[in-house]
Amino acid sequence: MTVLLDIAEPGQSLKPHEARALKRVVGIDLGTTFSLVAAITTEGSAACIPDEEGRVSVPSIVHYAVNNAPLVGVEAMAMAPQHPQDTIISVKRFMGRGLKDVQAQTPYQLEEGEGGMVRLLAGGSWRSPVEVSAEILRHLHQRAKEVLGGDIHGAVITVPAYFDDAQRQATKDAGRLAGLEVMRLVNEPTAAALAYGLDQGKEGLYAIYDLGGGTFDISILRLHQGVFQVMATGGDSALGGDDFDHRLAQYALQHWGISSPSPGLLQAARRMARQVKEQLSQQETAEFTLQLEDGSSAALTISRSLFEELIEDLVRATGIPCRRAMKDAAIQPEDLQGVVLVGGSTRVPLVRQKVAEWFGQQPLCDLDPDQVVAIGAAHQADLLAGNTRSDLLLLDVNPLSLGIETMGGLVEKIIPRNSPIPCARAQEFTTFKDGQTAMAIRVVQGERETVEQCRALASFELRGIPPMTAGAARIRVTFQVDADGLLTVAAKEQTTGVEQSVAVKPSYGLSDEEIERMLREAISHGAEDIQQRLLREAKVEGERVLNAVSSALKKDMDLLDEEELKTIRKVMREVWEACQGSRHEAIDEAVKQLDVATRTFAQRRMDRDIRQAMAGHRLEEFG
Ligand code: ADP
Ligand code: MG
Repeated sequence: MTVLLDIAEPGQSLKPHEARALKRVVGIDLGTTFSLVAAITTEGSAACIPDEEGRVSVPSIVHYAVNNAPLVGVEAMAMAPQHPQDTIISVKRFMGRGLKDVQAQTPYQLEEGEGGMVRLLAGGSWRSPVEVSAEILRHLHQRAKEVLGGDIHGAVITVPAYFDDAQRQATKDAGRLAGLEVMRLVNEPTAAALAYGLDQGKEGLYAIYDLGGGTFDISILRLHQGVFQVMATGGDSALGGDDFDHRLAQYALQHWGISSPSPGLLQAARRMARQVKEQLSQQETAEFTLQLEDGSSAALTISRSLFEELIEDLVRATGIPCRRAMKDAAIQPEDLQGVVLVGGSTRVPLVRQKVAEWFGQQPLCDLDPDQVVAIGAAHQADLLAGNTRSDLLLLDVNPLSLGIETMGGLVEKIIPRNSPIPCARAQEFTTFKDGQTAMAIRVVQGERETVEQCRALASFELRGIPPMTAGAARIRVTFQVDADGLLTVAAKEQTTGVEQSVAVKPSYGLSDEEIERMLREAISHGAEDIQQRLLREAKVEGERVLNAVSSALKKDMDLLDEEELKTIRKVMREVWEACQGSRHEAIDEAVKQLDVATRTFAQRRMDRDIRQAMAGHRLEEFG
C-alpha cells in the first residue's frame, strides 16, 4: 500500500495546530558493510543510536549456528574467521537477486529459493537474504526500543537509488519480518541530502558521492519544489574501502616476503590494514603490526603518501562513473549547487581532494559521512509520522499525476506527480458544443496521455451550465490534495456560479509496485504517447472545426453561392476523412484547407453580424 500520511490516530483531530503525541520513529541505513539506526532527539536534531559501548555502526554480518540464536554485528564478525560459510557478510548484495545474478565469486553455498531469489546455506539451514537482513534490522530495532524506551511506531529504511522493484520489495519484507512498520523506503542519496537540510535550501542540482566499504555510488539529484528527483545514478558495485584494505595488506605481506598467506593470516592482515587506513585519515603515519604464523611479530611504518600511492588508481576509478552520471544528466560540474560526501571511505583525504577537483567545489562534509544516510532517514521518518511541527515542511508528494479527461479521451494533468502535498491547483475548461449545459468531469491518476491507460478515480457531472456557444462557458476545475492525500475536485461555472464537487482518495488501493509500474510504463511509452496525443488533439480540433462550420452553414448558408458551398462541403469531407485515419499531419493539413476555404464565408458572416448588431441601435451610439 502506498503510504498515506498518517498524522493522527483514529478519533484524533487532524488539525495541525492541535497538540498531538509524538510518534517514536527511526531511520535505518541498512548498509552493505555497516548498518545504523537514528532517531530525532528531544532537542529536535537527529542522532545515531549507540550500543552500550558507544558504537553506532553495526557490522552488517550475521552468524548462524545450529540450535543457537543467530549473532549479529561485532559478535558475528568475530565468528567469521573460523566459520566463513556460516557467517553472512554483505547480504545486501543478495537482496532480491536470483542465483545467476550473484553466483560469480561468493564463499557461500547457494540455491534458488522461492520466487527466484537466491538462498544461502548457513548454520545447517537455507536462509533467504530477506531473513538475514531481518536479523540485522531486528538487532537495530531492539537497540532503538531500549534506548528510546518503548515501542517503535515506524521506520524509514534506505536503499540505493538504483535498487529495482525486487530489491526494494525484499528490503521492505525484511523490515516487516523484523517487526518494523516500514513507513517508506528512501533512496540513500536522498537521505544524505535531507540530512544536510538541502530540501530547505536552494533548488537545483546536487551530486551525492558515496564510497562505502564495498560499493561506490554516485547520484545526481535535482531538488525541485522541495522534492528530490534522481536524475542519474552510477557507480561500481565492487569498489570500496575494502579494496583499500586489500591493497595495503598485500603491500605489507609482500614487504615481509609472504607471497601466499594462509586465509587466516590474510584476514588478520586485512583487519590491521583497515585500522592503519582509518588512522591515516587523521595522521601522517601509522604502524602496521602483524603476528606472523611462526609466532614472530612484524612491524612496518606506513606513511599517508605511501598509502595514497597504493590506492591512487582505485580512487581515480571512481571518477569515471562521476563523469558518466553528469553526462547522463546532461550537466556540467559548474551546474551543481553542491556535492555531498557519504560513506566511511570519503574520510580518506585523497578521496576528498579528488572529489573537490572533479566537481570544482569543496564537498559538504560537516556531518559524519557514515552517519548521514541514517540521519536523513530519521528526519524523513519524523516528517512522515507528523512529528515535525512546521507546517511549511514538505510532508509528502503525490506519487502519480492527477488530472481530468478532456475531449478525445486525453488527460489534462492538473497536479503533476511529485508535487508536495498539501497543494491545490486550478485550471479553466470550456464547453465543446453550442448550447452544452452539462459537463462530465472524469478524474484520473497516472502519467500516460490517454484516459484508458490511466487509472479512473472518480467522475461527476457539472449540470446547469447556461446554454452558450461552444467555447464561451468558463468552467474552473480545482484539485485540492490535503496532507492526508485526500483529493477533492470541484468544478464551477464562472458566470453562473454553478458548482459541483467530489472527494476522492487518490492513492487508495495502489501499491508502491503499481505506482512504479505505471511510472515505468509512462516512461517507456513516452514517444508513442506523444504521437497518440497529437493524433487525438488533431481529431478533437477537426471535429470542433466541422461542428463550427456546420452550425455556421445552417445559419448563414444564403451568404454563399452554389460553387462556394460545394468547395466548402468538399473540404469538410476531407477533414472528416482525415479524422478517420491515424495521421495527425493529415488532419492538421485538412483543417488548414478548410480554414482557407471558409475565409470569405467567415468575413461575410462577420459583416452581417455587425450590420445586424448596428441595426438594433441608433447610430450615435457608435459615434
Ligand atoms: P557501507 O555503506 O558500505 O555499509 P560505510 O559507509 O560505513 O559502509 O563505509 C565503510 C568503509 O568506510 C569501510 O571500508 C571503513 O574502513 C571505511 N572507513 C571508516 N572510517 C574511516 C576512516 N576514518 N578513514 C578511512 N576509511 C574509513
Ligand atoms: Mg552506505
